[in-house]
Amino acid sequence: MERPEIWISFAPELHVFVAAAQRRGRTAVRTDGASTLGHVVESLGAPLTEVGVLTADGREVRTSHIPADGEEITVLGVPRPQQLPGPARFLLDVHLGTLARRLRLLGVDTAYESLDIGDAALAARSAAEQRVMLSRDRGLLRRRELWAGAYVYSHRPAEQLKDVLSRFAPPLAPWTRCTACNGTLRAASKEDLHEQLHDGTERSYDTFAQCTDCGQAYWRGAHHSRLNDIVEESLQEFGGPPDRVRH
Ligand SMILES: [Zn+2]
Repeated sequence: MERPEIWISFAPELHVFVAAAQRRGRTAVRTDGASTLGHVVESLGAPLTEVGVLTADGREVRTSHIPADGEEITVLGVPRPQQLPGPARFLLDVHLGTLARRLRLLGVDTAYESLDIGDAALAARSAAEQRVMLSRDRGLLRRRELWAGAYVYSHRPAEQLKDVLSRFAPPLAPWTRCTACNGTLRAASKEDLHEQLHDGTERSYDTFAQCTDCGQAYWRGAHHSRLNDIVEESLQEFGGPPDRVRH
């Protein structure tokens, strides 16, 4: 049997995943006649976590669609903000430690292990805890067990943060979470934290908090500028009330 030939075009935001030939517009691809469209798209390099609407000859189809000879396929990226089947919670792979601390700084529930526990264990945790797996590893994002997943497009933490905030629009609550362990913070007094603070810290700062999980002490004051900048910029761009973010 002749193998079906389909015409496929990828949206510009997916060009990073596909071969140069597929970036120029619609290109002919031969399939085996049995594979699903999802499999075809993945085999051309695009993780399905990054794929939004699929159409065949102008009508929307699912990833389970089996393309027929001559079909015209378009592959769009995910809409932003992307809707999730539950609250926006995240799990980051071992390479995204800086991003993990910044998300926690903004109060976003972010699990992260500094040890590489392996793809299978990460995927299982994503499923068990209903967390969006964030990674730059396409192989990990292909795992079927994932509750949800997203490719992190940049190497740079500042761009990574904007990418995740614009994609999922998680509610922001800065200074409510431990950047070291993701535990929640409670207000604390100088006296509570006396043993953890140095003399200079006690004199210079007046807002204190402590992690309810690991006990880490936090303080805020005038010399907090780099973290403050991250918080202020993020709130300005992504922290608006929900009716503003939705547009
Ligand atoms: Zn902690």
